[in-house]
Amino acid sequence: MRRIVIAGLVAAGLMVGHAAPATAFAPWTGVSRPLSAYKAHAVRTAARIIAVCQRHCGYSGHLDANRLAGYFGFHHAFDPAGGDSQLIFYDLGRSLCADPDPPGEPGGLPAALPDVLDPNWWPQLLRTHEQRLAGNLRRAYEARAADTPDDFARWNPLLDAAGELGEVYGARLAAEDVTGVLEVRACAGEPGLRPVLEALAALGGLTAARHWSGSLLAARSLQPHDLPALAEGVDRLCDRLLPHLPQLEEAFGYPQDVVGSPLGAADYTGALDASLTWNRAATHPGATT
Ligand SMILES: Cc1cc2nc3c(=O)[nH]c(=O)nc-3n(C[C@H](O)[C@H](O)[C@H](O)COP(=O)(O)OP(=O)(O)OC[C@H]3O[C@@H](n4cnc5c(N)ncnc54)[C@H](O)[C@@H]3O)c2cc1C
Repeated sequence: MRRIVIAGLVAAGLMVGHAAPATAFAPWTGVSRPLSAYKAHAVRTAARIIAVCQRHCGYSGHLDANRLAGYFGFHHAFDPAGGDSQLIFYDLGRSLCADPDPPGEPGGLPAALPDVLDPNWWPQLLRTHEQRLAGNLRRAYEARAADTPDDFARWNPLLDAAGELGEVYGARLAAEDVTGVLEVRACAGEPGLRPVLEALAALGGLTAARHWSGSLLAARSLQPHDLPALAEGVDRLCDRLLPHLPQLEEAFGYPQDVVGSPLGAADYTGALDASLTWNRAATHPGATT
């Protein structure tokens, strides 16, 4: 069975035989770097996005009937479950910083695309950032290696930096997948959707860049004077996307029988009323149920 699973991972290009660090905290990165990164990135990002949805839905976002609280709890609980995400990020960072810089790019750092409205801007910036973090971590580790014989003691103060590198690697894989999807949807007979999806992909990149701005600034992958362009870009892309929201809902929305919650119904108040099951007669004699 194990052999079949591993063969499947190889066929899917998800198992590329990278060595795990000698003192790995968990086996997952040794089995597959991308697969373990997708797990950790997906559950953490899903929990964060669901929490944002809850906040934007106000009171409704916290009603069990609307299911967001349940989905949030599930993804939040799966941060440690199914392979502890934080340990995966530590192992990824420690394994990635042992890789050589990619060939053909002087200093290993491609120039960032200047146009923040280009959907390729974010994955390219993340590639640069990842290499920069890996180089910094490698140098810090090598500096400690000279006078710290124990590998655990060498890594211990560098774990935050290793975890950051692991997280950036997961975010970069996801960002590259987003731009890859643009090609797939365009080839699937939906060319009209392409400019809308490009704007959505660019918006995803800019909001992620703002989320990562502390890390990007600290590593000088972005400069402080770059930040205003991110906020302006978000505004411009939101304006561009506003008229296309029905098209996006058509492309990404699930039918109501799958959503299964009043929040997805056209008549939210009626659907919520129909979902309430308490018996008011028990506490208010004379009231109808
Ligand atoms: C919803 C859910 C379902 C689960 N289902 C299963 C299941 O079906 N089968 C099963 O076997 N297990 C299951 N688990 C257990 C799960 O695998 C463990 O919770 C997980 O591996 C973390 O281990 P732990 O709880 O002992 O926490 P610990 O390993 O003690 O971790 C506690 C905290 O310390 C951090 N930490 C741990 N080691 C280090 C280190 N070396 N350096 C720095 N920080 C560290 C962790 O990131 C975490 O924040 C489930 C857990 C949950 C939450």
